[in-house]
Amino acid sequence: MEEQEILTTLKILIIGESGVGKSSLLLRFTDDTFDPEQAATIGVDFKVRTLTVDGNKTKLAIWDTAGQERFRTLTPSYYRGAQGVILVYDVSSKQSFNKLDAWLNELETFSTKHDMVKMLVGNKIDKSNHEVTKEEGLKFARKHHMLFIEASAKTNDGVQCAFEELVEKIIQTPGLWET
Ligand code: GDP
Ligand code: MG
Repeated sequence: MEEQEILTTLKILIIGESGVGKSSLLLRFTDDTFDPEQAATIGVDFKVRTLTVDGNKTKLAIWDTAGQERFRTLTPSYYRGAQGVILVYDVSSKQSFNKLDAWLNELETFSTKHDMVKMLVGNKIDKSNHEVTKEEGLKFARKHHMLFIEASAKTNDGVQCAFEELVEKIIQTPGLWET
């Protein structure tokens, strides 16, 4: 097979309340692992993965928060230059859903690309005690012009799809990623 040329490197952020499963989603996507013991304490700056979408090979630098989100101390450099963001809540935590507005405000304040593509992810759908319905998630996403998917880092539902749809939309947005 012919070696494909990498189209571009994209900066993707994962944000949302502490404990919603941001690091778990990232590890599932990059390493295809889920470790309930380790995930809570793991903190990386970013992880790199290539992803081919619609025949375009892209390199993703996906930034995790390493726990600073607990104190809302993400710095402007975290947000700078990002083309895409994954905003995560936990479907079994209404509290994490109610904080989405605050995260969008933060994003609005610090992001440097105003046509940045946003994906809302309702994580932990494998759990039985849902406090947030799919309709509520969808409604929030529509209101804020975001893509939306429910997912589980534990069972690997929707994880690949979330990243693929985000990257597809970024590639389709003129002027967002070309240098
Ligand atoms: P972060 O603080 O947002 O990075 O969240 P973590 O990835 O550290 O996850 C917090 C806790 O939720 C850990 O105990 C994970 O094992 C657990 N967790 C993460 N994703 C899922 C999921 O999809 N389903 C379930 N049941 N638990 C999850
Ligand atoms: Mg984390």
